[in-house]
Amino acid sequence: MHLARFPRRFLAHLPTPLEKLDRLSAELGGPEIWIKRDDCTGLSTGGNKTRKLEFLMAEAELQGADMVMTQGATQSNHARQTAAFAAKIGMACHILLEDRTQSKDPNYNHNGNVLLDHLHGATTEMREPGLDMNAELEKTAELHRKQGRKVYTIPGGGSNATGALGYVNCALELLGQVNERALKVDHLVHATGSAGTQAGLVVGLKATNAQIPLLGIGVRAPRDKQEENVYKLACLTAEKLGCAGVVAREDVVANTDYVGDGYGIPTESGLDAIRMFAELEGILLDPVYSAKGAAGFIDLIRKGRFTKDERVVFLHTGGSAALFGYDAAFDHTGRWTSAS
Ligand SMILES: *Cc1c(COP(=O)(O)O)cnc(C)c1O
Repeated sequence: MHLARFPRRFLAHLPTPLEKLDRLSAELGGPEIWIKRDDCTGLSTGGNKTRKLEFLMAEAELQGADMVMTQGATQSNHARQTAAFAAKIGMACHILLEDRTQSKDPNYNHNGNVLLDHLHGATTEMREPGLDMNAELEKTAELHRKQGRKVYTIPGGGSNATGALGYVNCALELLGQVNERALKVDHLVHATGSAGTQAGLVVGLKATNAQIPLLGIGVRAPRDKQEENVYKLACLTAEKLGCAGVVAREDVVANTDYVGDGYGIPTESGLDAIRMFAELEGILLDPVYSAKGAAGFIDLIRKGRFTKDERVVFLHTGGSAALFGYDAAFDHTGRWTSAS
């Protein structure tokens, strides 16, 4: 693995901490739970997209772009981190936001990540749900190119082979940390969405023969589709790195039992996970991704999927800025609905 062969704009606060969660481990009666704090990557409240953007934005700069464009759901963490990265390197940023949940809640539509997108100077446009958003992105980029802009487009979630390099790097970083501290890790678990995080991790873990099983907890697509998306991107990423074939289809494992009513709709188990991490560990999760990942993780622990003497690392992918778009989920009824 020789990541220095690829252009990279260093901006993330790395390495992110690897911490033991004593109170959560005790509450659940084992396994020994650790957390990899990719919510602490430093860029505008942090999160997993920053690692991907280090490689994507370096490519944008090399291509002479003066504007970066991307897309996501209204409360997209990826959009917010792209806006912040663009601000830092002096590029214009334009974002297409898909009204995926159709919530009418003013905080959902204007607070949280949306507020931060605009504070970083990005411009945004809304799109009806259900469109091919990456196609919309390319169409809109063409309009700006006709006006003389040099536009670099980033797919949703920053999930292509370039972005996934950021998570190959995370796998190497995590291995370095556990090897230094003689921590044998039995499982790695995280929330999976647009697939770049899991694809990069699985390539990094397989190419180094780490022998750490990886489990992605889905937030949107059904299992077959999610695993297929991750596998396809992992193959492209391995090819880019010159280690094609290093990932087998069965290395890609997703559990999509914790999506609930759909992408961006909070679940009771996710809200419980948010409260547990907040009250026991002082750590903030978000209702769209990390809370559903943690809810699956906690439920699988309770079901005995991990034994008491195992050591399991939960990768915290960030997202806490979205909490301020979802405050209604924590009201006295404990409910948030997309029609509210
Ligand atoms: C984007 C995101 C994920 C999912 O990562 P993918 O690479 O899109 O699979 C998980 N957690 C948070 C907080 C995110 O913003």
